[in-house]
Amino acid sequence: MKQQINTTINNMRLRRLQKKLDQINTLGETFATYSNQALKAMTKEFKKRLDKPRESLDTILPEAYAVVREASRRVLGMYPKDVQVLGAIVLHEGNIAEMQTGEGKTLTATMPLYLNALTGKGAYLITTNDYLAGRDYEEMKPLYEWLGLTTSLGFVDIPDYEYQKNEKAMLYQHDIVYTTNGRLGFDYLIDNLADSIEGKFLPKLNYGIIDEVDSIILDAAQTPLVISGAPRVQSNLFHIVKTFVETLDEDIHFKVKKAKKEIWLTEAGIEAANQYFNVSDIYDEPYFDLARNINLALRAHHLFESNLDYFVYNGEVVLIDRITGRMLPGTKLQSGLHQAIEAKEQIDISLDMSVMATITFQNLFKQFEDFAGMTGTGKMDEPEFFNLYSKIVIQIPTDRPVQRIDYDDRVFKTEADKNQAIIDKVQELHAQKRPILLITRTAEAAEKFSSTLFKMDIPNNLLIAQNVAKEAQMIAEAGQLAAVTVATSMAGRGTDIKLHPEVQDLGGLAVIINEHMENSRVDRQLRGRSGRQGDPGMSQIYISLEDYLVKRWGDDKLTENERLTAMDADRLESSGVFKRRVKHIVKKAQRLSEEQGMNAREMANDYEKSISLQRELIYDERDRVLNLEHIDEIEFDTLAKEVFRRDYIQAEPVTPRTLTEYIYRNISFQFDQDLSTLDISDHHAVIQFLLDLFKSQLETQRQTINDPYFYQRFLQKTILKSIDTTWIEQVDHLQQLKASVRNRQNGQRNAIFEYHKVALESYEVMCNKIKGNIIRNLSQSMTTFDKDGDLVIHFP
Ligand code: ADP
Ligand code: MG
Repeated sequence: MKQQINTTINNMRLRRLQKKLDQINTLGETFATYSNQALKAMTKEFKKRLDKPRESLDTILPEAYAVVREASRRVLGMYPKDVQVLGAIVLHEGNIAEMQTGEGKTLTATMPLYLNALTGKGAYLITTNDYLAGRDYEEMKPLYEWLGLTTSLGFVDIPDYEYQKNEKAMLYQHDIVYTTNGRLGFDYLIDNLADSIEGKFLPKLNYGIIDEVDSIILDAAQTPLVISGAPRVQSNLFHIVKTFVETLDEDIHFKVKKAKKEIWLTEAGIEAANQYFNVSDIYDEPYFDLARNINLALRAHHLFESNLDYFVYNGEVVLIDRITGRMLPGTKLQSGLHQAIEAKEQIDISLDMSVMATITFQNLFKQFEDFAGMTGTGKMDEPEFFNLYSKIVIQIPTDRPVQRIDYDDRVFKTEADKNQAIIDKVQELHAQKRPILLITRTAEAAEKFSSTLFKMDIPNNLLIAQNVAKEAQMIAEAGQLAAVTVATSMAGRGTDIKLHPEVQDLGGLAVIINEHMENSRVDRQLRGRSGRQGDPGMSQIYISLEDYLVKRWGDDKLTENERLTAMDADRLESSGVFKRRVKHIVKKAQRLSEEQGMNAREMANDYEKSISLQRELIYDERDRVLNLEHIDEIEFDTLAKEVFRRDYIQAEPVTPRTLTEYIYRNISFQFDQDLSTLDISDHHAVIQFLLDLFKSQLETQRQTINDPYFYQRFLQKTILKSIDTTWIEQVDHLQQLKASVRNRQNGQRNAIFEYHKVALESYEVMCNKIKGNIIRNLSQSMTTFDKDGDLVIHFP
């Protein structure tokens, strides 16, 4: 029923697009008659028309798309198909186009990229990895250049490459830029740390298309981009807290909600902690750090399982991506959780770095004026896309009907039985020379299958998501006669598998999946590796009761059901009841896991609201200061007065000694005036006195620098420095705050409310700190000139 409604709505949406498509098709006939020169000239013509009041990107879309299509035929030898044009319209409208694997999303994107680049404000294609960005850029570049637009790869694809001054700015100054979400995100954060307008390189983000949008926005959502700063002061509680936590019993001392990743102490647990650490109440202010550490240890012990969530490898905790099973070396859990796991595993505790700048991908894309997405699997997550960005998902029909047969799951009691059946199947299909893609959740399983097959004299390619470029090449070969490819779920994503002609008659590529993935969307992606562009093909998923998903999310009723477990393997496999039950478990498990993912993302988003709001205010203020041509000193007087007044009130009662210290710390190291003539209790007089002192310091700075241009730069850089140091502290503070609030209240609603409240208060504190820092930095910085004659500022 729901399916039907979906189809009806989708068809309605498509009908509207169809009208535009008809228009574009008609225009196509006209442009086909144009000479190369006349066709190329259309770019200039469009740009001119965009200056006219009645014209907009929407009004020129049909012609622009028809032009790109015709140019593509001439330059790339490919004419974008009707379904690609439909997708292209969806992308310009800023929605999400669901187009199956192999339908040609790379070419589809060229139409909206061209159209949006006509404004001169830039258009971006963002994909998941460097290899795909580079490949698509190289392939589409001739088309854009032929049409008179410039294009670039937004990064230099060399490990640890050091960019020259201006080099990044040059890369970004193109009409169309191909890049990855990670590259763009880091550049966004780095750009907002620039201390001069010349140091900025990222244009205002105008229009972007995100390829594999579900993977980028949903799968990668939990790991925000982080630029790390200095190491934090290390807590020494990890070990002692670990020992304590190991004495606790579930349900008596603590409760766990696995599906929600929540854990908290019961009253009895709190009492046990109070006794163990000999304190009156661990939630009292002085024991704040202790309570935080107890919660971290609880989470490390009961919500993170070795070999499922992480491996211990070479004495380090290496995280595993839950959805793909990939190891994530170099990625660390934030705010002490990583260290708590290290304590649990009794390995050396690593340093916990402070966070200097951070953004989630969800918020990164909100920086765009407008963006769109494309993927083979997006419909299922439409509600989430809609909630996050008010975007709808439109399913574009395939050019040719899908011929792939998705067989029913095969179900086994034990993993060993299942693996044997998979091997038998591979052997059977291989004997017919049919190409096989065997997909596993983990790298270990892939390795095992690969070596078993080798022992049986079945040569195979093993891809375990290590070298993207090499794997892309290898997976492209997976459609050859008698090819056997064993791969983890991520390996080679985004690469098209073309079939050898003889393979068509053999039934196409066989995709065998050794267990259900945690997310049914990923199952669908995997099936979609076969049956591209109307090719024949098949897919089948194998299940056993010992699978990760069943163990993690299933219940024990089935494994404990005596009648079923008493059956032998063959009977069990053909038992309808058994099959239905297992299927039910898998469905439920996937639903739980998907819900958990959604909840976690929603929560992350809720928490992110405060920081992103503050970040935007700060970044705007930075930009304003960066763009100031002239900084008015009168403003400093007002600012200084405000700072002095506040500090005076806070410091009351002020004595000659505290006042002198204040002056040393904030205005002048060399203060040696006599304060005896000043009436310290008269706050107007004191503030006026400080203000005069400040003004004379600033005057000294001006005379030392002795150059109006550099004096202005001095003012500007000093303000920026004051904002940045304070803001960086704030980012880390919010990060820590989030962790502690979450601990205390077990992720309930009021925890978020509490967090926002405290975050808001801390914002005001931060603003005051910035002002104070500006006054101090202006008064106490030392300036020199380097050998190139550039101003160097030494901040106090
Ligand atoms: P997707 O990203 O949708 O999985 P790709 O963009 O990788 O698909 O394209 C799959 C293959 O189809 C590529 O080899 C591409 O060159 C080819 N292709 C795409 N569009 C066309 C077209 N209109 N005509 C001919 N070949 C096309
Ligand atoms: Mg693609």
